[in-house]
Amino acid sequence: MPTLFSKIISREIPAQIVCEDEHLLAFKDINPQAPVHVLFIPKEEIASADALEDRHAELVGRLVLAAGRYAREAGIAEDGYRLVMNTNEHGGQTVFHLHLHLIGGRPMSWPPG
Ligand code: 5GP
Repeated sequence: MPTLFSKIISREIPAQIVCEDEHLLAFKDINPQAPVHVLFIPKEEIASADALEDRHAELVGRLVLAAGRYAREAGIAEDGYRLVMNTNEHGGQTVFHLHLHLIGGRPMSWPPG
């Protein structure tokens, strides 16, 4: 089902887009949890990590690689960062279009709450 992230892809909803190619789009989170907080989403509508299929293996790799590239460009890679895919209700997912959070620019604690 289309979500507001599909509307960001189609430019119906504005966002601070930081990278895009034929497979994916990345934009700054509207409610950043750290100095760097970017969402990497596939252009294909996939509801969550729970809906991934074998055919998506390359696409998931592209999301992770794009996030890593952005982290290096943003200068946060050496200090470190977090990649998160909140999945379904217990995972805290609120937008049901698969997205990879890149969060960094400050130290983070573990475990999550
Ligand atoms: P989730 O909780 O599903 O893992 O993450 C959804 C994320 O999307 C949240 O961090 C939230 O701040 C972000 N978000 C929700 N609506 C918008 C929006 O309209 N624009 C942008 N840029 N981010 C959004």
